[in-house]
Amino acid sequence: MVKQNIQKIDGLLEEAKDADDNAIGKILDKAEGFEGLNHREIAALLVNENPLHRSRIFEIAGKIKQNIYGSRIVIFAPLYVSNYCVNRCAYCSFNCVHEFNRSRLTMEELREEVKILEKMGHKRLALEAGENDAQCSIDYITDCIKTIYEMKFENGEIRRVNVNIAATTTENYRKLKEAEIGTYILFQETYNENAYNLYHKAGPKKDFDYHISAFDRAMEAGIDDVGGGVLFGLADPYFDVLGLMLHNEYLEEKYNVGFHTISVPRLCPAAGMSMSDFPNQVDDDKFEKIVAIIRIAVPFTGMILSTRENYLMRKKLLKLGVSQISAGSSTEVGGYAKKERREALNPQFLVNDERSAVSILSELMDDAYIPSFCTACYRSGRTGDRFMSLAKNGQIGNVCLPNALMTLCEYAKDYGDDVFQDKAAALISAEIPKIANDLIRKKTIENIEKIRYGKGRDFFV
Ligand code: SAM
Ligand code: SF4
Repeated sequence: MVKQNIQKIDGLLEEAKDADDNAIGKILDKAEGFEGLNHREIAALLVNENPLHRSRIFEIAGKIKQNIYGSRIVIFAPLYVSNYCVNRCAYCSFNCVHEFNRSRLTMEELREEVKILEKMGHKRLALEAGENDAQCSIDYITDCIKTIYEMKFENGEIRRVNVNIAATTTENYRKLKEAEIGTYILFQETYNENAYNLYHKAGPKKDFDYHISAFDRAMEAGIDDVGGGVLFGLADPYFDVLGLMLHNEYLEEKYNVGFHTISVPRLCPAAGMSMSDFPNQVDDDKFEKIVAIIRIAVPFTGMILSTRENYLMRKKLLKLGVSQISAGSSTEVGGYAKKERREALNPQFLVNDERSAVSILSELMDDAYIPSFCTACYRSGRTGDRFMSLAKNGQIGNVCLPNALMTLCEYAKDYGDDVFQDKAAALISAEIPKIANDLIRKKTIENIEKIRYGKGRDFFV
């Protein structure tokens, strides 16, 4: 059980203080070979505050990001379907003691949300919900997924639905698997049991053991594509990073596959809570260091950042290792339609990047990033350990890069104005020579031409 590993964390962090400059240098040499790090090595980097080591960590994180992920940034949007919740998480406005008008999307309202998201160009969604079996059963969630996958538009469809719902039973995970979800995402919130108990006062989620063993049940049910995370701001962040890393090692050992993605949400203000009740908030300096250490510790695990972070912080973290971001997000049930109608909003928490998806993408391209709408891995069955072997064999450049360029071309044609299309075309021309495999490069050029002239679409390697 992963909990046994977690119990070692305090001791590991204490022991790690003994690592001298020489030991840290060796750990960083290892990281530079993109080999990843074990939990003892990660602990040593976390507790070391030497600015020279810090700059080397940042440098290596940047190199790993560039070499493994190139300039691609995968784009997604959250879709909130229900805010009924039986849990009392002290940080969340959906918690059961916060009084507000709760709602759950009807299938018609869901279709309206999906239509708007599709108009923004999204192909990948993260479906989010509070926990409430009566109002939001697993069958309701799978109905939502089915409805989303069934919707077809002129410019394609939503091709991947990741799911971020509360820890549940093996039987329910089987239903999610059957509904063909992408990644099952669940944040541990904190690996520190005392802090966990402090901030989770009621509801099934207050059971630390049940929550921390959720991925075991998901794996048993055949979901091999799972995404972890902690909510930074609840406990000592170094403790939580080590918890995440130990959890990842545990999954790798037991199931031969670790986290497909790691999310790094930081606590934001929300209705019904006060930021002053959270003394462990993480400042920008520490947050950057944490992201860089995660990047070098697990080089092949995607890292997700949401609109909880503002534009400047996102820009910094993209350099240090973040590979997936949300754009144009709403954290409210029915929020996309409400935004269009300019109605009062009731979000789960306040986002810090209010820009539209198209302006976020345009700015990414100004910084030479390739916004990617690729969902090919999931559609070609490259999940779990099959995705990891692709990543570890250095094939990402021959697979993910062409897919990113083809999906960007499609996006630009479908949703971009002239300026956007010109920017995308220039970026695509600059990136095509970087596809190492001759055959794939040629095919990508052909497909891009087809997309541009309306002779084909939805190509992937
Ligand atoms: N209800 C499910 C659960 O709690 O696991 C999943 C969906 S919940 C909408 C997604 C995540 O939002 C939670 O795991 C929590 O970490 C995050 N969250 C809640 N309140 C937040 C806040 N004030 N700031 C930042 N993130 C928050
Ligand atoms: Fe409910 Fe999730 Fe919010 Fe907790 S974090 S109150 S479980 S929606």
